[in-house]
Amino acid sequence: MDKKNILILGAGFGGLTVLKYLLRDLKKREDIKITLIDKQNYFLFSPLLHELAVGVLFPENIVVPIRNLYRSNIHQFVQARVEDINLSEGKVKTSAGIFSYDYIVLALGGVTDISGMADNIENGSNVFSLKSAEDAVAVKNHIIKMFEKASAETDPAVVEELLTLAISGAGYTGVQLASSLSDVVYKYLLSSYPDIDPARIKINLIESKDRVISELPEKYSHYVMKHLQKHNINVRLNCRITEIGSHRIRLDTGEAIPSRTVVYVTGVVANPVISSIGAEKDAIGRVIVNDFLELVNCGGAYAVGDCVHYQDSVTGQVARQRAHNAVRQAAVVARNLVADITQKKRTKYRISDSAEVISLGRSNALLRLNGFSLSGILAILVWVISYSLLAIGKKNRVKIAVDWVLARIFGPDTSLIESQDIESRLGKDSDLSAVIDNKGS
Ligand SMILES: Cc1cc2nc3c(=O)[nH]c(=O)nc-3n(C[C@H](O)[C@H](O)[C@H](O)COP(=O)(O)OP(=O)(O)OC[C@H]3O[C@@H](n4cnc5c(N)ncnc54)[C@H](O)[C@@H]3O)c2cc1C
Repeated sequence: MDKKNILILGAGFGGLTVLKYLLRDLKKREDIKITLIDKQNYFLFSPLLHELAVGVLFPENIVVPIRNLYRSNIHQFVQARVEDINLSEGKVKTSAGIFSYDYIVLALGGVTDISGMADNIENGSNVFSLKSAEDAVAVKNHIIKMFEKASAETDPAVVEELLTLAISGAGYTGVQLASSLSDVVYKYLLSSYPDIDPARIKINLIESKDRVISELPEKYSHYVMKHLQKHNINVRLNCRITEIGSHRIRLDTGEAIPSRTVVYVTGVVANPVISSIGAEKDAIGRVIVNDFLELVNCGGAYAVGDCVHYQDSVTGQVARQRAHNAVRQAAVVARNLVADITQKKRTKYRISDSAEVISLGRSNALLRLNGFSLSGILAILVWVISYSLLAIGKKNRVKIAVDWVLARIFGPDTSLIESQDIESRLGKDSDLSAVIDNKGS
């Protein structure tokens, strides 16, 4: 039997939700084959990455193996890196071979773009992004390392470099990370490092726009700004980082700040695989889609989530790169794929941005709901409940809830466990290391 092939690229919020709804509606169709491809074999719950970066949660809390999520006879998961998408031939090149399709869903998300800084970074080991679980673990390890070194350092100038942390970008992620970091540092870390003078710690949040989280209505931006200032976060507006040296960063104002830590959360652009395909795209490489979330002039090719530029034809609003938007778009795309296959009428997507909750550390959050807002402990409760409910899988919900409570009582994890190179793992002079060296030569 000739089967219709549906290819879903990316198993993040968008791609997995498309799969979930397709399986619900097409599970009994033997003439359908769905292939889900991702370079990782797990789903990452990225809205909680900042909690991983400050040691409150652990990697296994916020990832779920994709193969454990859905079972059916009509779909398969392939762990592979997508390298090229040829829309005119209906073929996708991956590290596991070439896949043909009848319908395709692009859900490869975005990447942090620091390419403009490449020539101005002196020491890459001081610079981090926050897009993957590995990134978050690296941020946590680096900060702990800075505190360990500062605790044993006697030169005040070096201590200043070690204890000055910079976050580039005061959007949602930068604000959430700065708030969690401030909480963890001042409420928990300092008690483990009695030799460190709290006055020496500086958390800088650097933003090129004139307010924090500029997507929010102004009054909420002001609320967030006040919260950050109250929590010892030094917010620098209207400036950007132009140089990252081994011991200091430089701003476009000419000012130099001694620091050995920069977390980059600015400049999310489309995945390079998406920005290089032959379709209409916006200035940051995202594919432009119509009301059905279909690529312009590319029938049978849909896209969802952070790799999409969707402008609501009624309100003119452009969909933001948020997890709930990816999930809502995915539901519409799954419905439209089923409509294509069963030759029914398709559904139009409309932006619905009426509610959101932003965490501001362990003691505050901001909830916005249809023009009404709430902050403080009730908003935190909503944040905790909504995110633990969103986390895929009952096991993860329980793990997250338990670790949140434990971290609140006993403080976050400050152990420094790093991956090692082969020499450190086997011992430089060990027999096994010599055998491996000989094989390689
Ligand atoms: C630190 C952080 C905090 C955030 N906080 C919030 C929040 O509080 N609330 C909110 O609503 N949103 C938040 N977001 C945004 C939210 O995570 C994204 O909007 C959402 O993940 C987009 O879903 P997606 O499916 O488009 O992409 P993703 O969920 O990023 O999924 C993309 C998938 O594609 C895979 N992939 C990428 N390239 C390749 C390739 N070449 N080959 C194969 N597979 C590939 C990736 O492995 C990934 O699984 C946050 C994001 C970050 C990074």
